[in-house]
Amino acid sequence: MKIILIGIQGSGKSTQGNLLREKLGVPYLSTGHIFRELAKEKTPTGRYIKETMNAGFLISDEKTVPIVAEYLSRPEYEDGYILDGFPRTIAQAREFENGIDYVVNIKVSEQVALARLTLRKGTENRADDSSNAIKQRIEQFFTHTIPVCRYYKEKGKLIEVDGQRSIEEIHEEIMSKIKSHTS
Ligand code: AMP
Repeated sequence: MKIILIGIQGSGKSTQGNLLREKLGVPYLSTGHIFRELAKEKTPTGRYIKETMNAGFLISDEKTVPIVAEYLSRPEYEDGYILDGFPRTIAQAREFENGIDYVVNIKVSEQVALARLTLRKGTENRADDSSNAIKQRIEQFFTHTIPVCRYYKEKGKLIEVDGQRSIEEIHEEIMSKIKSHTS
């Protein structure tokens, strides 16, 4: 099964992605995690990724698409995956026709996302959790990623869930919507 998770930063995508991985036995991968690793490299690409991420902007589509394609071509993702954080732009979605089954949009308001990210600042120690970067990331989501949801809605693949409930309730809603889509 191939599932894409979409949600504003702070919507709980990685928490839900890991629960789905356990429940469905499908590997989970996050482009944010991939880029955080690449940002450690002392190469021009590593430095570009680090600066872009820390400012809260998106990595260019030209860099992102081949990096994600390379990961997904690995044998462990052959039978499916739960992909968190990609595609994030319409250009990425168009280039990525990969037999996706479902696209799950975990919906939370901007206020709730801001509150969660501000709280996380003290715990995860991420360079892109500065106040300016958080504001920028939320703006990038509305500008670039909401159109991606519309793109998949038109294809009949979009599942929307209320992300402002408990972790278990959100997980149950995703599972039941996946089941009703399948049957
Ligand atoms: P995340 O952990 O999903 O919030 O991603 C952290 C950062 O990684 C984002 O703010 C972007 O700078 C970068 N990133 C992750 N996924 C993508 C993507 N699909 N396209 C462009 N940039 C991305």
